[in-house]
Amino acid sequence: TAITNHLPTAELQRLDAAHHMHPFTHGQELRDKGARVITRAKGVWLTDSEGEEILDGMAGLWCVNLGYGREELAEVAARQMRELPFYNTFFQTTHVPAIALAARLAELAPGDLNHVFFAGSGSEANDTNIRIVRQYWAEKGKPSKKVIISRQNAYHGSTMGGASLGGMSGMHAQGGLPIADITHIDQPHWWAEGGDSDPQEFGLARARQLEEKILELGEDNVAAFIAEPVQGAGGVVIAPDSYWPEIQRICDKYEILLIADEVICGFGRTGNWFGCQTLNIRPDIMTIAKGLSSGYQPIGGSILSDEVARVIEGHEFNHGYTYSGHPVACAVALENLRILDEEGIVTRVREETGPYLKEKWEGLCDHPLVGEANIIGMMGSIVLTPDKDSRAAFAAPEGTVGLICRERCFANNLVMRHVGDRMIISPSLVISRDEIDTLIERARLSLDETY
Ligand code: PLP
Repeated sequence: TAITNHLPTAELQRLDAAHHMHPFTHGQELRDKGARVITRAKGVWLTDSEGEEILDGMAGLWCVNLGYGREELAEVAARQMRELPFYNTFFQTTHVPAIALAARLAELAPGDLNHVFFAGSGSEANDTNIRIVRQYWAEKGKPSKKVIISRQNAYHGSTMGGASLGGMSGMHAQGGLPIADITHIDQPHWWAEGGDSDPQEFGLARARQLEEKILELGEDNVAAFIAEPVQGAGGVVIAPDSYWPEIQRICDKYEILLIADEVICGFGRTGNWFGCQTLNIRPDIMTIAKGLSSGYQPIGGSILSDEVARVIEGHEFNHGYTYSGHPVACAVALENLRILDEEGIVTRVREETGPYLKEKWEGLCDHPLVGEANIIGMMGSIVLTPDKDSRAAFAAPEGTVGLICRERCFANNLVMRHVGDRMIISPSLVISRDEIDTLIERARLSLDETY
């Protein structure tokens, strides 16, 4: 029989367990429990194979910025597939979707970030960035400038390059990671690592680790610094205000290229088109993916400044992906950007729904389990703790209580993720006030049931 939505859930779960391997998953545990089968979605709501409606507090994987079920995107994809389903941009050819999307991104991106190299995902785009920054310095006559500095607990993807740039210890433990000439400084995570220090002093000290690392390695050996404007997968870690101006000063002083990984922060999530605009950062390169197409098609890319692009384009760049500038993905992304713009969705996050969510989210701090709430635009975290005053950790291993909370949320038909004992949200940007109220009610109920 054909495998369709009409099969019983248990049969779909059996087939899933038998043949489908899930990313970032303990396969045996999932097999015993059975994966929840998602069948359709509209707005911020998912429907599962039992007909349950689930509020998606994560916009898929931080990516469905426009919400699910937009017909316009389906129409554009179908039209593009009929007209030109594929052609590459490698060997002296181009096509209209890639031209139009690159031109639109150059308009939206801040400063002189005017040149786009397309990839199929955020991980691929960060692999591209490794090549770009090293080739850039080699062409400028400084081939020793190779090292890329990143941060512990950063997430920059799952390829060998992306996972090396990332600072996830579990991934590095797989071996061979990080690849050569990538090193990490500490993250600006005051709650977890700030001890008794003042948060602003702590932010400055963490930023100055970049300077210390550059001096230790020698500035002639350092190519770039990469960071997410707000660490997403690390637990929505918002740096103290003192942090970014100091990072910018250090990059400028030592001529270190600054790569802002906007894969999560980009396309409205922080209330501006890019996180860099919210946090006043001036990158030389931005990594983009996810919200670029609202996840309707896989696409990512790197946006380069005039100067970086000029140097890279002075020679052949021996790098690219079959799906760089895929016409269907580009056409869908362009339509996604049109709707985000014309419906004023980014402005609404900044001026209306973002402030409303912030008020409600911070209101969770009156719950006995919640030590701190962090939020910027449509990405937030709460820290679970048994003792707010001492910021103590639970007696159970890190992440145990967070996992229970996530499971309670899921049982209450709310998707919220946990990173250790932090709970995080990143809903679609189209979430309404009523839906925000429902999200908060379900989060509170789940917290009550957690501990
Ligand atoms: N960079 C950041 C900041 C991300 O959050 C992610 C994915 O979550 C990536 C890169 C990797 O993107 P992808 O999963 O599309 O390869």
